[in-house]
Formats: sequence, C-alpha cells, structure tokens
Amino acid sequence: MKASRIIDIHTHAFPDFLAKRAIEQLEAMSYGEKAHLDGTISDLLRSMDKAGIEVAVICSIATAPKQVRNITEWSRQVASERIIPFPSIHPDYADFSEEIAQIKDLGMKGIKMHPQYQGFKIDEDRVMPIYEALAAHDLILTLHAGFDISFPTDPSASPDKTARVIERFPDLRIVACHFGGWRQWEEVKRYLAGKNLYFETSYTIGDLPDEKVVELIKLHGDDKILFGTDSPWKDQAKSIEEINSLPLSDETKEKVFHRNAERLLGL
Ligand SMILES: [Zn+2]
Repeated sequence: MKASRIIDIHTHAFPDFLAKRAIEQLEAMSYGEKAHLDGTISDLLRSMDKAGIEVAVICSIATAPKQVRNITEWSRQVASERIIPFPSIHPDYADFSEEIAQIKDLGMKGIKMHPQYQGFKIDEDRVMPIYEALAAHDLILTLHAGFDISFPTDPSASPDKTARVIERFPDLRIVACHFGGWRQWEEVKRYLAGKNLYFETSYTIGDLPDEKVVELIKLHGDDKILFGTDSPWKDQAKSIEEINSLPLSDETKEKVFHRNAERLLGL
C-alpha cells in the first residue's frame, strides 16, 4: 500500500555548524549505532524526498539549561511547511514558564524531553510545573520512553512513570516514543496500552516480533499510533517499508502514516 501522505513525528537535526560534531558525539555513546544522514536539515529533506515524506517533526533535546534559548531560536528559524520543530525545555531551566509561553507565541506545537539525556525521571516532582505549563498552553509533550540504546538499563523513562503523569495531567497531550517504552514492552502493556496518549513507532519493528507490534496497536487503539523514524538513527524509507510489511488494514496504515498526526498537530 502507498499511503496518501506521510508525516514523520520523530526526527533529529542540528544547526549546520554543529551537525558533524553532534553526530560524532552521539555515535560515540550509542554502542555502534551509525547515523544514516549527516545531521543537517538539508540532508533530512533529501531523505524525506526519497522516502516520500511530506512533513517531519524535528525533536530537539536541550542537554544543558543554557541550550534552551538557542534551541528555541533555531527552531523558529528552521520552521517551514515541511519542518515542524519541537524545541526543548531542560528540567533545570529556571525560566521555563516564560520559555513555554514564548514557544506557544511562536506558533510551535510542542516540545521534546528526554529523561536519560536530561537527567530526570518522568514522574519526579521537579518536572511537574513544566508539564502543568505545557498543558495550560496546550503544547504537546514528546517524551523518550523506555530504555535507551545509550542507557540500556536506566529506568527513568519507564511506562509506570508515564502512567502517573497521565493520571495527574489528563489534558496534557503526550507522545511516548518507541511504542511507550523501548525494551519495556511488558510494562507498556501493563501500564499504558489503551490509555490517553500517543505511541510513536520508531525502534520497535524488528526489535519486537511483528505479531507483538500488531497486538500492541490493537490493544492501544490505532487512533493513537504515530509514524516516527528517529532519523537519522533509522532510515526513513526502510521505516516506511517496515510499517507496510505489517498485517494491518489500509485504514489503520493511513491513520498511522498521517491521519493521527494531522489531528494531533492540527494540519
Ligand atoms: Zn529520537
């Protein structure tokens, strides 16, 4: 099946001057993972053209508080019809409230946070005021979820923690990457399947047997699954083939490839 439109909810790119160094550093800590692209937006757009992806969300991660402002500013510069930037709030960024208001004013749709790279647990008290401000501004929160290739046993982003946030902030729109919890699949089933949040598809097919992926989609509901690749860490064209190879209806695939994202992002 060829989807009528494809939106990639989870990609990464960096300012041109910094892309090479960022990719090298990330590769060095990722146990042999190699980037498929050079980390620039122009290379991402080339990959999108090749794969037939119309729109990509770029998820930035502020690994230190001082990066927050620069990332918002860069996000403002690179936003376009095809590129939807999600800037980032660091849990120790003191002026998060003003920054979140600014991000909303700039017309951005959401932000990305990554527990392992930013040193916090999804459900810890320190980040609750950030979640509250995001919900108040109706901004989407994309969270890395589950273990991470670079932190293979760190439980900071475990599904039970995400479940507590959902209970506390029922209005906060959450996208949990990697089907809600990379390599914590049993906990995903126990704590998150069917709940009020979106799952994103990257790093799952091939890691989890196809029948388990299909089971999770059915358990969770195909209205809450979003196609994402984690490019440049996965190849976008190949990621599309992987979804297409699953025994899912064309209707479900259209939802996953674009309809759910259109609704979430207001496109
Ligand atoms: Zn990612």
